[in-house]
Amino acid sequence: MPSDDHGGEFGLIRRYFDRGPSRDALLGIGDDCALIAAPRQPGEVYAVTTDMLVSGRHFYPDVDPESLGHKALAVNLSDLAAMGAAPVAFTLALALPEADGRWLEAFARGLFALADRHGCELVGGDTTRGPLVISITAIGTVAQGAALRRDRAEPGDDLWLSGEVGAAAFAVRSRDLGRPLAADHPAQVRLDRPEPRVALGIALRHFARAAIDLSDGLAGDLGHVLDRSRAGAEIAFDRIPIAAALDGLPAADRAALALGGGDDYELLFTAAPENATAIAAIGERAGVPLARIGTITAGASMRVLDPRGAPIAVPARGFDHFAGGAPRAHGG
Ligand code: ADP
Ligand code: MG
Repeated sequence: MPSDDHGGEFGLIRRYFDRGPSRDALLGIGDDCALIAAPRQPGEVYAVTTDMLVSGRHFYPDVDPESLGHKALAVNLSDLAAMGAAPVAFTLALALPEADGRWLEAFARGLFALADRHGCELVGGDTTRGPLVISITAIGTVAQGAALRRDRAEPGDDLWLSGEVGAAAFAVRSRDLGRPLAADHPAQVRLDRPEPRVALGIALRHFARAAIDLSDGLAGDLGHVLDRSRAGAEIAFDRIPIAAALDGLPAADRAALALGGGDDYELLFTAAPENATAIAAIGERAGVPLARIGTITAGASMRVLDPRGAPIAVPARGFDHFAGGAPRAHGG
C-alpha cells in the first residue's frame, strides 16, 4: 500500500495491529510467518477456519468500523465454537481503499476487545490497497474425537438451539424497508455485534454430537447438518425461541425470518436424549438459554410443524426473502 502519513503499509500494521511481543504464539507479527506451538495434548488437533467479509455484500459500506472489527472476528470464533474448539490465534487479511486513521483505530478497537475476551491473539496477516475486504483465519484446538462435526447427527437425537433467532434478519429487513433501527436496538446490536458461543461450544464437547453455527438461517444451516449426516428433522415451531422484535409481524413473515433469517450466530446442535439433563445444566452454567426444538429423524426431510401438527413452509435455502434487494449484511 502506498505511503500516507501512516508510514505506509508497515507503519500502518505497526500502529494499528502490532501490539508487541506475543503472549502465546512463539512468534507473532513481523516475520514471514507466525510460529505457533503445536498442540501438546495427545489427540488434540487444530481447528482452522476462514471467513471473508466484503463491503456491500456482507456489510453495509457505512457500518460502524468498531462493530465491523468485532463482527469480522466474531463470525470466525463462531465457527470455532461450532466445532467445540478453543480459540488460539488468528490472522487478518485486509484490503483497504484508503488508510483512514480514525477508521482503522475504531476497527482495531472492536477487533481486539473481542480477541482479548477470548484469549485469541492476532499473529499475522496481509495488508493491501483495494476495495474493502476483511478476511480472518482463526485457529483453535480441540481433541479430534470431541469435535462437533456436521456429519454426526443420528436419528433419535434431540435438536437443540442456543439463544433466539430472527433478530439480525429483522434489522436487515428494517433497513431494506427504509426504516433502519437505532444502533442500540437489540436486533441491530445482534446484527452488528454477534456474540460467538465459544464457552458453550467447548462445554458441549462429549455431550453434543453434531453442531453448526447459524450464519445463513436455521433452515439452511440445519439443512447442511442433515445433508452431511444423511438424516432428516422434525421441528416444533412453537418451541423455537424467536426474538421479541418479530412479535408484531404477520405470522408468515415471522416464520420466514425465524427459519430463514441469517446472521444470528447461535449454535444448533444435536445430542442423544439421555444427555438432555446434562445439556440443560451446561446452558445454565454458560448463561445461554438452550431450547430443545425438535428431533433428528431417519430419511432426508425437514419438517416444521405448528402446534396443531400442520406443516409450516420452510424457506428453500437461507434467507431468500429479500434476494435481489439491498446487499445483505450477513457475515457467515
Ligand atoms: P510478507 O511480505 O512476508 O508476506 P508482509 O510484509 O506482508 O510480509 O507483512 C509483514 C508482517 O506484518 C508479517 O508478519 C505479517 O504477518 C504482518 N501483517 C501484515 N498485515 C497484517 C495485518 N493486517 N494484521 C496483522 N499482521 C499483519
Ligand atoms: Mg504479505
